Amino acid sequence: MLEISGLHKSYGSNVVLRGVDLKVNAGELVCVIGPSGSGKSTMLRCCNLLETPTGGSILANGHQVTSPTVDINRLRQDVGMVFQQFNLYPHLTALDNVALALRNVQRRSKAEAQALAQQALEQVGLGAKARAYPGELSGGQQQRVGIARAVALKPQVILFDEPTSALDPELVEDVLNVMRDLRQRGMTMLVVTHEMAFAHAAADRVVFMDGGVVVEQGTAAELFEHPREPRTQSFLARYG
Ligand code: ADP
Ligand code: MG
Repeated sequence: MLEISGLHKSYGSNVVLRGVDLKVNAGELVCVIGPSGSGKSTMLRCCNLLETPTGGSILANGHQVTSPTVDINRLRQDVGMVFQQFNLYPHLTALDNVALALRNVQRRSKAEAQALAQQALEQVGLGAKARAYPGELSGGQQQRVGIARAVALKPQVILFDEPTSALDPELVEDVLNVMRDLRQRGMTMLVVTHEMAFAHAAADRVVFMDGGVVVEQGTAAELFEHPREPRTQSFLARYG
């Protein structure tokens, strides 16, 4: 579903990604962990061209992301994204935030977009909040709107960039539960997270990134219980 090979990204002389190799198979939940500044967000953002890779290749649901002829509009329908800071429009209701992409990206009619948006909000348990504005919702509810917005486009894979890092601790589980539910429904997911308990329990595979490369990857049990690389060991020791 997603195959990243030798991915490089530099900003001027600052080399952020130095050859990332990572694969996500259909139906898998893969978690990416690693210290701040290791390039996790940059790697995700390259997958739907929010950033332009400077080298390597990415194949996403048949799209050659790194080809100059890639159809960015189709790519972003197939590869959804959920952001740490939600990125909702404050002047639009929850329903309209979700409906907007359906109208702009999929060229749906207003009525059709709103009906599909309502369904997506119901899927994340927010059917009753459709008319609320982001400022009237808790952080956890806002992030569930962000997930509904991604889900509404019926993507083949969803990228999550620290979806719970901006939330008060008591709101984290609501969002993780929505993600567990998506996984049950067979959604393919690549999740950057600091929620080690979630990664340990829910991930099919866990990838540890540091310094712009994948240092180590394995099943959740292998990586958390028997990390092989010293850098993985010291990172996990800090997270207890
Ligand atoms: P992580 O998500 O693992 O914390 P990031 O991918 O956000 O790491 O950032 C990795 C490095 O890339 C950091 O050193 C950051 O300063 C740099 N970086 C990220 N985005 C940009 C940008 N738009 N311009 C310049 N440098 C950037
Ligand atoms: Mg980040």
